[in-house]
Amino acid sequence: MNLTEPQAGSDLAAVKSRAVPDGDHYRLSGQKIFITWGDQDFTDNIVHLVLARLPDAPPGIKGISLFLVPKFLVNADGSRGARNDVFPASIEHKLGIHGSPTCVMNYGDNGGAAGWLVGEPHGGIALMFTMMNHARIAVGIQGLSISERAFQQARGYALERVQGQPAGNARGTIIQHPDVRRMLMQMKSGIEAMRGLCYLAAASADHAHHAQDAVARQRHERRFALLTPIVKGWCTEFSQEITSLGVQVHGGMGYIEETGAAQHFRDARITTIYEGTTGIQANDLISRKLLRDKGAALGELVADMQRTAAALAGAGTAVAAGGRVFRAAVELLEQTAGWVIAHQRDSDALPGAVAVNFLLGAGTVCGAWVLSRAALATDAGGGADAADYLDARRELFCFYCEHLLPRATALLQTVRAGADSVMALRPEQF
Ligand SMILES: Cc1cc2nc3c(=O)[nH]c(=O)nc-3n(C[C@H](O)[C@H](O)[C@H](O)COP(=O)(O)OP(=O)(O)OC[C@H]3O[C@@H](n4cnc5c(N)ncnc54)[C@H](O)[C@@H]3O)c2cc1C
Repeated sequence: MNLTEPQAGSDLAAVKSRAVPDGDHYRLSGQKIFITWGDQDFTDNIVHLVLARLPDAPPGIKGISLFLVPKFLVNADGSRGARNDVFPASIEHKLGIHGSPTCVMNYGDNGGAAGWLVGEPHGGIALMFTMMNHARIAVGIQGLSISERAFQQARGYALERVQGQPAGNARGTIIQHPDVRRMLMQMKSGIEAMRGLCYLAAASADHAHHAQDAVARQRHERRFALLTPIVKGWCTEFSQEITSLGVQVHGGMGYIEETGAAQHFRDARITTIYEGTTGIQANDLISRKLLRDKGAALGELVADMQRTAAALAGAGTAVAAGGRVFRAAVELLEQTAGWVIAHQRDSDALPGAVAVNFLLGAGTVCGAWVLSRAALATDAGGGADAADYLDARRELFCFYCEHLLPRATALLQTVRAGADSVMALRPEQF
């Protein structure tokens, strides 16, 4: 996907690349930056999807069209033809994801790259969003996947590394230290919450396409739209903490490259940036998904969560105690959403100033919901073989409610503080 240009990152309305008609196709010129796998020789050809403006394009976001531009043209018989006028100008040196070439791409230095219009003229952004919404889920899953890898490595190290006399016992492995256990619980419960949320969002995407009933399809469409920025924003932000904990569990060895723990930390860092930064996801959540429908989709989610909270009241003692914390967090999420809707016009800065904390708070509550459903499902039983597994699901929910869910209260309270202190200093005071 070739969207980004030096002056057009988060703000795609500023895209300047041009496409002029040339017979049945177009000639593209301009520069794209930071293009993932912009060039490589693993495949015979590369098909770029490129945002550019037609000569008669209106200004801004409504004047952007989508073009298909192959690296090599294709002959009438399907064989590979001449090299198209699109070339990588350079490959970036990056903090992480060193296996992924990130290229500056030059279009049209030698007369114009041949490209074919996809969809209607000036309709490129809507088409791009079809891909971007799925790519956002994919990047959320990338945050989850790197976290899982960091966890597996940390777990393996903690089971082997001998250091100190854990909890007053003889010299033993570091997994016996309560603080190492805390870190592993934080990683594991966070990862399970993230994974469950990704599955829920993906299931909604499937139901939105395939449910028999039109009402259910629309409901799932709303749910998928609501969860997409949360999956992208919350899972990737959480992956920063989880991969950092992975380094911490290793102690000094975590900081040494040969262990591999540091690579996960560096690789995770991009996930909060590409496919729209966390700030952009949060703006999407507040503006398009909350304010536009006056909280309807969030209200449906809250109602589902409240049903789960009611079911938790009848569960075993520890799970029911977690359920009470969860119920209070759901209530606070609902109230905070109501507060944002009521106060959205208090100042121009308000939605933007509170958006990320709202997203992270909502994500943290969603995580508890996912784990609570897993804890409830353990009631169905699974035979003696599954006892350990089921017990772990309950314990992970209880840990999450005690150690991670209180963060939602802090984050959502911050939202109600509004924009004033965020905007208090003038730019020159920084
Ligand atoms: C390794 C890598 C791979 C990439 N791959 C691709 C690719 O394949 N194709 C592609 O097209 N692009 C790609 N990108 C570009 C990526 O999508 C952009 O970097 C990203 O969208 C942010 O744009 P920017 O870098 O211009 O930052 P800016 O938009 O300048 O943002 C800088 C800061 O300002 C904040 N900000 C800006 N606008 C707003 C706003 N409206 N509200 C709140 N905060 C805001 C951002 O959150 C961020 O913190 C890649 C980038 C990298 C680093």
